[in-house]
Amino acid sequence: MKAAVFQEPGKPLVIETIPDPSPDIGEAVIRVKHCGICGTDLHATERHGARLPEGTVLGHEFAGEIVAIGRDAPEGWKEGDRLCALPFIGCGKCLACFQGKPWQCQAKRIIGLGEVPGGLAEYTRVHLNEAIRLPAPVTWREGALVEPLAVALHAVRGVRNGLAGKNVLIIGAGPIGLTTALWCSFFGARHVIVSELDQGRAQLSLKYGATGLVDAGGDVISEFRELTGGAPELIFECVGVPGMIAKCIGFAPYGGEIIVVGFCTKPDTFMPALAMANELSIRFVLAQDKSDFQFVVDMLAANRIDVEGMVTDVVSFGELPSAFEALRTPTSQCKVLLDPVL
Ligand SMILES: [Zn+2]
Ligand SMILES: [Zn+2]
Repeated sequence: MKAAVFQEPGKPLVIETIPDPSPDIGEAVIRVKHCGICGTDLHATERHGARLPEGTVLGHEFAGEIVAIGRDAPEGWKEGDRLCALPFIGCGKCLACFQGKPWQCQAKRIIGLGEVPGGLAEYTRVHLNEAIRLPAPVTWREGALVEPLAVALHAVRGVRNGLAGKNVLIIGAGPIGLTTALWCSFFGARHVIVSELDQGRAQLSLKYGATGLVDAGGDVISEFRELTGGAPELIFECVGVPGMIAKCIGFAPYGGEIIVVGFCTKPDTFMPALAMANELSIRFVLAQDKSDFQFVVDMLAANRIDVEGMVTDVVSFGELPSAFEALRTPTSQCKVLLDPVL
């Protein structure tokens, strides 16, 4: 099959022909319909990112249809079924796996980040324990957005005492900032204010739940006050570069809550005493539970969220390596998907 293969940091992905995957116990091989490029993929292929093995096939935001099923697979699946899946293959036997939290399984393998080849390919492998069926109304584009939507949902679900009525500040309007804005609005936040340097991304956030924008390079807090009449009692850090947590601490009022969603792979510093002075809560979140995935799919199937516009480009294998590199520098793109048959 065709796949986008990582060689070493600093070199673009290379499109190669590699052996077709075959399903292990409980697994299915799926024909990839769409697979998104994620900020995590960009971090992982940087010089300072986690060291990815040469030959890694990236891609953990995919949707596709089953072409083969391995032995002892969970009941109820057949060839042609449409699905998306959590980017983990758990052991299937531990408490975390039974609870639908394969991320916490000690024996988990990660799809698309070195352990199991990912979805930037014609085919990929998933474990059917971690798969979610995509009903007919859910398009392939939406199917490939379920993973980032589930990451943001997981972050928003972790908020103390829910979202209803809160004044929220979201730092960064990349795909995770945008999807976080969507869920904050969905769950009833009063104001959802986005701080983002790129005008294209900032404007896009207004379509997905943001109720106002502040200039990321300006006086964020006085602009926030002007728009909302108050302080940001809840702040989501969705950028993931050093210095952002310190900024959030500076923005938060007494008793404020900061949720760190941005995936920062470099050392960072902040002044604990400043956070203590305001008795802030700072929570780090990662990944998603199976219940987050299922909720996203249910909301898409019921047409209660409309996210297709978050896809700003769909590329072929030929276009993928340069599209991937282009996302490393500030961009107006939101989600870029591979379509393997283009
Ligand atoms: Zn991702
Ligand atoms: Zn397990």
